[in-house]
Amino acid sequence: MATKVLVIGACGQIGTELTMRLREIYGGEQVIASDIREGSEEIMASGPFETLDAMNKSQIEDVCLHYEINEVYLMAAMLSATGEKFPKKAWSLNMGSLMNVLDIAKDGKVDKIFWPSSIAVFGPTTPKENTPQHTIMEPTTVYGISKQTGERWCEYYHQKYGVDVRSIRFPGLISWKTLPGGGTTDYAVDIFHKAVADGNYTCFLKEDTALPMMYMEDAVRATVEIMRAPEDEIKERSSYNLAGMSFTPKEIAAEIRKHITDFSMVYEPDFRQEIADSWPSSMEDIAARNDWNWKHEYDLSNMVAEMLSQLK
Ligand code: NAD
Repeated sequence: MATKVLVIGACGQIGTELTMRLREIYGGEQVIASDIREGSEEIMASGPFETLDAMNKSQIEDVCLHYEINEVYLMAAMLSATGEKFPKKAWSLNMGSLMNVLDIAKDGKVDKIFWPSSIAVFGPTTPKENTPQHTIMEPTTVYGISKQTGERWCEYYHQKYGVDVRSIRFPGLISWKTLPGGGTTDYAVDIFHKAVADGNYTCFLKEDTALPMMYMEDAVRATVEIMRAPEDEIKERSSYNLAGMSFTPKEIAAEIRKHITDFSMVYEPDFRQEIADSWPSSMEDIAARNDWNWKHEYDLSNMVAEMLSQLK
């Protein structure tokens, strides 16, 4: 059977690049983009688009039925920093949308689901360095609580109902095509725009705050690879740790200075510092490497070079 895909939340930071990659692989008409708002010109012009609310289960079911969808990628969510401003809304969107998609799969209306989790599932009591796949998880943000609960539901639906749901705990994602959507790692994208435009940046995290990060190219490839892996290779049905790189604001600024020598940065930490302090600083991802052959390609130096050349 030909793969027919629905991406929910296709106009966001990950959704935009993921949708374009899936269209390259499966063909424009095979990949239905959907969101509550319209997306970039390339998303709107390269294949079908449906306005769809992830909170509305029957709307999702109708689109799945109409296009004979067999794979759903659920990218709609409220991210960590925005979630702290609207905790109940974040909980409602992040849980409601996931339960809708899990139930549609449980009813046999689609075959496979991708749902992204996050390093936000971890908390201050988690081992901070090389955080293992299985460890203490006591998240302190509403976003992290929603992702951790989501992981439990994914595993439950897999074990009880055989739902083929696959998930990755993404670190902070760095990309140049679409701006980030209200996360704690957004500084690592904003910094490039400001470096190129103004030569300086005011960072909302302290200079020594190390966080796990990944270049979008790696994140999109990981998503495609985990979804194309044979079903029996996917052993973790909560979500997989994934490591790319880990750096501090000071380290990324130094790397940018290798290209823009007079780049300067000042630090004005805000409420996002507390969120960042509760997260791991680096991840261990042996399970993903063993189970479905994950391998990252981008480190700090080739990511910075690529970002600056794209934005210039
Ligand atoms: P984003 O905010 O850039 O995009 C989310 C998209 O969902 C937006 O286009 C928005 O319009 C859409 N949306 C919001 N509410 C909707 C609704 N009710 N129905 C349909 N669409 C709706 O987010 P992103 O960075 O692309 O993140 C996508 C997923 O990946 C989220 O689950 C997020 O938690 C996860 N994630 C992202 C990162 C990151 O660094 N970007 C890191 C870890 C996990």
